[in-house]
Amino acid sequence: MRPVSSWGRLSADPHQVIELTDRDRVAAEMLRAGGTGIAHGLGKSYGDASLNPQGILWSTRGLDRLIAFDAATGRLACEAGVVLRDIQRLMMPRGWSLPVVPGTQLVTVGGAIANDVHGKNHHLVGTFGEHVCRLRLVRSDGAWSSAEAKSHWFAGHEGWKAQLRELDFRVGGREQVIGRKGSGAVSRFDARYHEIVPNERIVYVYDMYLDEVPISVSLATIEFNELTRGSQLVITEQGVFLDSYQDARGREHGTNLLMDQLEQALQRSIN
Ligand SMILES: Cc1cc2nc3c(=O)[nH]c(=O)nc-3n(C[C@H](O)[C@H](O)[C@H](O)COP(=O)(O)OP(=O)(O)OC[C@H]3O[C@@H](n4cnc5c(N)ncnc54)[C@H](O)[C@@H]3O)c2cc1C
Repeated sequence: MRPVSSWGRLSADPHQVIELTDRDRVAAEMLRAGGTGIAHGLGKSYGDASLNPQGILWSTRGLDRLIAFDAATGRLACEAGVVLRDIQRLMMPRGWSLPVVPGTQLVTVGGAIANDVHGKNHHLVGTFGEHVCRLRLVRSDGAWSSAEAKSHWFAGHEGWKAQLRELDFRVGGREQVIGRKGSGAVSRFDARYHEIVPNERIVYVYDMYLDEVPISVSLATIEFNELTRGSQLVITEQGVFLDSYQDARGREHGTNLLMDQLEQALQRSIN
């Protein structure tokens, strides 16, 4: 823990600062730290927008690489911790300038996008965000990895009420979700995680029970694919229904409902 202030110096509360240095390992670092937090660029926000007292700050200052520049279009790809001043120093001798520069150039690209900063030419060119063609977003709320976030969408239907939730989201870790359906029957989902590659795939094996009678054993693979706009989630399940139960169609329907609930939970967290 160390004290961190923002530009206004209104406070200097202790924070757990985690330095991010490899853009391909951001999601893995978040998972390893085991908690949620907020990103912190150069801390030039006036108020407390870049602070998380007693909590985690993901410092992006080590994510300072320029990735590609197209001299014909002026399009630049860079990491979130690149400072606007450094872009200007490099690009202006080449005949290019950022279209939007706030009152200080000592802000990061990530901070400029997150606060959608403006410059003195706001009435002519709009805000910083209007000139961003594409960005890669790593979420820290762990829709799959945090028990709290997962409880917002991984739930039964038609009057189902959770009775127990346990999640140890690590390779070898176990997840158990027990709940009572509207009909009174008790369902139990009992999973073991076999592979977790952040932002790429999750592989787990799960048993389902109804009133403690085993009904199926399944191998599930969740894959995340980055698309030009958004991302794609692919679920592949191989299941065996045991003698007491045969309902592959019902399982597919239930999985679709879960995906709808996941989408709604993500929408709620954005709005
Ligand atoms: C002297 C001065 C003049 C200024 N003039 C202007 C002005 O003219 N116009 C204007 O609009 N603003 C202005 N500002 C405000 C400043 O431009 C913004 O607060 C800017 O967002 C700060 O960037 P930062 O890198 O320091 O981000 P921080 O202050 O560290 O963070 C700002 C916010 O962005 C989030 N964030 C940072 N990096 C990321 C990331 N990689 N991913 C997701 N979220 C992230 C943080 O969580 C936080 O909510 C000025 C500030 C100062 C000190």
